[in-house]
Amino acid sequence: MNPVIALVGRPNVGKSTLFNRLTRSRDAIVADYPGLTRDRQYGNGVLGGKSYTVIDTGGIGGEDEGIEAVMADQSLLAIDEADIVLFMVDARAGLMPDDEAIANHLRVNQKKTWLVVNKADGMQEEVAGAEFWSLGLGDPHPIAAAHGRNVTTLIEHVLEPF
Ligand code: GDP
Ligand code: MG
Repeated sequence: MNPVIALVGRPNVGKSTLFNRLTRSRDAIVADYPGLTRDRQYGNGVLGGKSYTVIDTGGIGGEDEGIEAVMADQSLLAIDEADIVLFMVDARAGLMPDDEAIANHLRVNQKKTWLVVNKADGMQEEVAGAEFWSLGLGDPHPIAAAHGRNVTTLIEHVLEPF
């Protein structure tokens, strides 16, 4: 069984951009996954000889959908299905109340969670991550999904136990 990586976070933080990058491998196929719904997208990738499955919680959110609804459906299902959660925040937008609400859920979840600070392009890494330490999810990991900065290193690290 491939390790399953769920991409979770507010709308517009770059989840789909990272999903596309992680599934752009020659071996990538859309996973034939039971329970597939319109709002969760599954893909496969390979890195350093290790295969993995990624879930993009693509259909969630929308400015008027409350955090309860967001966490209640697609994100929770994706977290349930995952071995690893990549919780994505946006270095440019900064720390938002919904980030804290999602973090509160993830802190009590048993799944291994990585705090990924996207859109760190053009920023010093320490500066990009600084305000997200307060989420209580450990080290912030700055990346730029759109440009690939730090993405391979992060995913190799994430896949180490598998
Ligand atoms: P999602 O709603 O979380 O799936 O976010 P998307 O992947 O659709 O990205 C939202 C916006 O952020 C798009 O305009 C992306 O081009 C932009 N974006 C994604 N990754 C990066 C990045 O690393 N740097 C910058 N500057 N913009 C990014
Ligand atoms: Mg998306």
